[in-house]
Amino acid sequence: MTVGGIVYLVGAGPGDAGLLTLRGKELLERAEVIVYDGLANRELLRFASPSAEIIYGGKHDRTRCVSQAELNALLLAKALEGKRVVRLKGGDPFVFGRGGEEAELLAAAGIPFQVVPGVSSVHSVPGYAGIPLTHRRYASSVTVVTGHDGPLSPANKVDWAGLAKVPGTLVVLMGLRNIQAIAATLIAHGRSPETPVAIVSRGTTGRQQTVAGTLGTIAELAGRAEISPPAVTVVGEVVNLREQLDWFEQRPLFGRRVAVTQRLDLARPLVAALRERGADVLEVPATRWVPHPDRARLDKALAELASYDWILFTNPLGIEFFFERFFQVHNDLRQLGPARLGAYGPRTGQKLREWRLQPAAVAADHKTPLIIEAITKCGSVQGQRFLVLRGDSAFEKVPEALANLGAVVHVVPCYAVEPETEDLTGGAAALVEAGADWIVFASGLAIEHFHQRFDLPGLLARFPGTRLAIASPTVQWALDRLGLTPAAISRPDDAEDLVNAILKAEAAAHDARTTNPQPWPLRHILALEVPAG
Ligand code: SAH
Repeated sequence: MTVGGIVYLVGAGPGDAGLLTLRGKELLERAEVIVYDGLANRELLRFASPSAEIIYGGKHDRTRCVSQAELNALLLAKALEGKRVVRLKGGDPFVFGRGGEEAELLAAAGIPFQVVPGVSSVHSVPGYAGIPLTHRRYASSVTVVTGHDGPLSPANKVDWAGLAKVPGTLVVLMGLRNIQAIAATLIAHGRSPETPVAIVSRGTTGRQQTVAGTLGTIAELAGRAEISPPAVTVVGEVVNLREQLDWFEQRPLFGRRVAVTQRLDLARPLVAALRERGADVLEVPATRWVPHPDRARLDKALAELASYDWILFTNPLGIEFFFERFFQVHNDLRQLGPARLGAYGPRTGQKLREWRLQPAAVAADHKTPLIIEAITKCGSVQGQRFLVLRGDSAFEKVPEALANLGAVVHVVPCYAVEPETEDLTGGAAALVEAGADWIVFASGLAIEHFHQRFDLPGLLARFPGTRLAIASPTVQWALDRLGLTPAAISRPDDAEDLVNAILKAEAAAHDARTTNPQPWPLRHILALEVPAG
């Protein structure tokens, strides 16, 4: 039998999207069908091509449920249709989680498949909790077992009594439910009740939670901390190293949930800066940018580029949309003509330089007077012809100001901004369900669209601990309209400054709390107040 299709069993890594392999990323980009696991980080789906068919193949979810038999049938059907299928599985595809069985099925059906190993939770989750699995002084071997069935179940296939006598580190996956029986069995067969144990839940993500104790205490501690799956349990002396090596949970924004509402590509530096400090970032883009539906004006301008003295760009994405159309009409960058180029802000200027175009004027900020100042520094604008390439913004006052100075200004929209309605990575759902400590806005339009979708004051009423940050003072008007005040404000387009503003506000709030101490962490109080649905 010849089949055009192929299935790639790809390891998604343990949760941190950065732990996907390069090979995994390449295959996600090329996949025609992606069947992803409940454990795989949905942010990885951003690598998928827009035309890819994306299917949830996790076993349990509140809304959907797929049996292994259905899943197998699905993989076979898609491959038999001749599709390039990526089966994206949490951690490593061949470490528990039935990857072996899926491969057997494909082999039996004669369907070509490849395996792309992933970073398994076995070692990476303890690693993010500051626990090395081996250490010259404490452990020279590692044993990995499933605790799915637990020592008391008739289905158990693990020799727990024997394991109690094996030296080195013991790693238990899927064992949270049975932790009490597991600990008791290990103790009953000779392991000291003092043996250090750690349970790490949702490891490598911004919601990682670690509980450390001993075989004698861990079940109670885990229960008290209400730790939830997925969790890895580590048993052995190496657990003590965590006291010194806990790097991940010590970062200043660890445990803080931050919703970023900017378009993903623009948000990248901010998302990276927040994650670097340990924040749990929710990607909730408020807007979606599309080529402007009215092509005629842009096409006319593209035909007359040589007639302009200045071409102004309002933002980096506008440049992208402009050139996308430019190269559909022209085939040589020089057809841009002799006009001087102007940028409404430093990042827009930088984007022009990436195109190897030198802007004559780059405004320090998006404020109208600063933009006019940057342009008029190059000479009088009297009688000069300006092409302003932008979106549909009704707020932008630069064309008017230039016209007042005697310039001839043509405003041409090259993109339109629409409210985002999709939720590929589940960020919006998570925000609505559990709230966030911070919501960051980078534009007034984003605030308006976000408000339309989520009812911002309503969201804040449900989650009173949520604070707002704005990535430029020029955004404030949109919050003013809603009667809201930001708790952090940064310089425009400056991710580091924004993160510092958030850290400063956090520190101030912390000081306020210590002078007026609260009996429980804020998050616990919020959790009690979360209304159903
Ligand atoms: N193939 C996966 C394991 C699948 S079995 C891998 O290599 O990691 C599912 C179990 O993996 C969970 O019950 C839990 O024990 C563990 N696990 C996976 N991701 C985890 C995470 N982010 N944090 C803690 N445990 C995790």
